[in-house]
Amino acid sequence: MGPTTTNPGAPEMMNREDMLARLDERTDPWDIVVVGGGATGVGVALDAAARGYDVALFESHDFGKGTSSRSTKLVHGGVRYLRQGNIPLVMEALRERGILRRNAPHLVHELPFVVPNYDWWEAPFYGIGLKVYDALAGRYGFGGSELLGFDETVERLPTIERDGLRGGVVYHDGQFDDARLLVHLAMTAAQQGAVLLNHAPVEGLIHDGGGFVRGVEVRDLETDEPRAIRARSVVNATGVFTDSVRRMDRADASPMIRPSQGIHIVLDRRFHPGESAIMVPHTDDGRVLFAVPWHGKVLVGTTDTPVDTPDIEPRPLREEVEYVLRHAARYLEEDPGVDDVLSAFAGLRPLVGAGDDEDTAALSRDHTLQVSRSGLVTITGGKRTTYRKMAEDTVDHAAVLAELEPRECTTRDLQIHGAHAHSERFGHLSVYGTDALLIEGLAEEVPDGDLPLDAALPYIEAEVRWAIREEMARTVEDVLSRRTRALLLDARAAIRAAPRVGEILADELGRDGAWAAGSVQEFEALASGYLVA
Ligand SMILES: Cc1cc2nc3c(=O)[nH]c(=O)nc-3n(C[C@H](O)[C@H](O)[C@H](O)COP(=O)(O)OP(=O)(O)OC[C@H]3O[C@@H](n4cnc5c(N)ncnc54)[C@H](O)[C@@H]3O)c2cc1C
Repeated sequence: MGPTTTNPGAPEMMNREDMLARLDERTDPWDIVVVGGGATGVGVALDAAARGYDVALFESHDFGKGTSSRSTKLVHGGVRYLRQGNIPLVMEALRERGILRRNAPHLVHELPFVVPNYDWWEAPFYGIGLKVYDALAGRYGFGGSELLGFDETVERLPTIERDGLRGGVVYHDGQFDDARLLVHLAMTAAQQGAVLLNHAPVEGLIHDGGGFVRGVEVRDLETDEPRAIRARSVVNATGVFTDSVRRMDRADASPMIRPSQGIHIVLDRRFHPGESAIMVPHTDDGRVLFAVPWHGKVLVGTTDTPVDTPDIEPRPLREEVEYVLRHAARYLEEDPGVDDVLSAFAGLRPLVGAGDDEDTAALSRDHTLQVSRSGLVTITGGKRTTYRKMAEDTVDHAAVLAELEPRECTTRDLQIHGAHAHSERFGHLSVYGTDALLIEGLAEEVPDGDLPLDAALPYIEAEVRWAIREEMARTVEDVLSRRTRALLLDARAAIRAAPRVGEILADELGRDGAWAAGSVQEFEALASGYLVA
């Protein structure tokens, strides 16, 4: 069966062939070209397209392959920054949290977090701190914090370690699915007119005679075809790979990014069956630890390990897994062991460590925006929660550099693809928001559409076809790691599901069995790194 349209007569939402055709049709330079398809880059593409600028984005692997699919999945003001006294940063993040919940209600949910107290001073200390957090949120508040007695704490956290427990403090923050939000941001950008291409690394920058950046050299990995793309302004949004693009601009650019690895392990819900998350603000070595209910499992993390050279597929270190397990055991009744880890994944924080002698404008302590002498705009640091503000600041700068007609940012009130205030009615398809109905329709229309991918996974085959037809999934990994979250939820189940996903991909994309086998093999090799036992 060849590709068909899910909704007869309706245009496909994101289609790679259409994107390539639009790229090739263009004779004028693009207003803005974005390098990097994580939250920062896709946010910039969306902001620019929504202002009516012509924008193209290139992602070397898949949208969200980098840090943007490997976070703790929290939309938060950052209780940690409050402890550091960084009030403006917390207020900005709390405001962005509120804006994101309003614009993507199908993906951002309020979640109660309980700080369990074992020492006498913890209740007043965290109680007062969290009241300040509530106050800073103002009209963007998610619900007031409260002190909890022993019984109330145990009611919310049924498997919390009771030995020495005095009570707790509950506060409210946001939770989301990071890769799903990214795909919906990309779809929103596409609907606003942006061209976005995955599996297309930028390999070089094009400079004019005066040394100004005037475009990028990009390769389509599916055909191995290079393209020269001209642009009035180029934005570098490559996260921990920021310095590699800065070196394309200037070979001797000094390093700006100090990557720091954070890992999470995923456990069965029996370890923490409550509806609230556990937040430990200060482990013995001063880190923050979360245990968060997510898609029917529990996500526990994270760590902070300096890394010299960034890798696109970082692996959790043995000692990081042991650290998280040790601390989980301290706060949970049943001690999880290595055999209980369903999946372990690592992400790299793009921390800004050092600049060079160029004009560095730190718009806040959280994100850094730099304009090089050649006009290359680099945006980095920050977090998922503040991506919209980062994009606004970036496009403001890029538009001036490119001498574009000044236009106001509109994303503050722009709904994100799929927005639906009550998408919980769609059950396991709720993260798709308004697309859920189309996927339900597809499940009836295609053979085996409603068959589960694997007994241990909450996904059906129609979701795979949807991901390929409408969301530009091109490989087994794209489907199992980011369009669905199978790899993160249960790596063994994802490996079991891979051959069937390969068959569906080959069917939808018109590829042969050998291609499918190659994509499955690549995925199996990658997924083995998510198994720790
Ligand atoms: C462990 C951990 C937990 C976190 N938890 C949270 C959280 O709960 N809440 C929160 O708000 N934030 C959180 N963050 C921070 C947040 O995830 C990151 O700040 C954010 O995802 C960074 O996005 P980015 O787009 O800048 O980078 P990335 O997502 O890494 O995107 C950069 C992209 O550029 C691409 N690229 C690189 N080179 C090229 C090239 N030459 N050509 C084309 N493309 C290229 C890469 O493939 C990559 O996809 C967490 C971070 C970590 C590490």
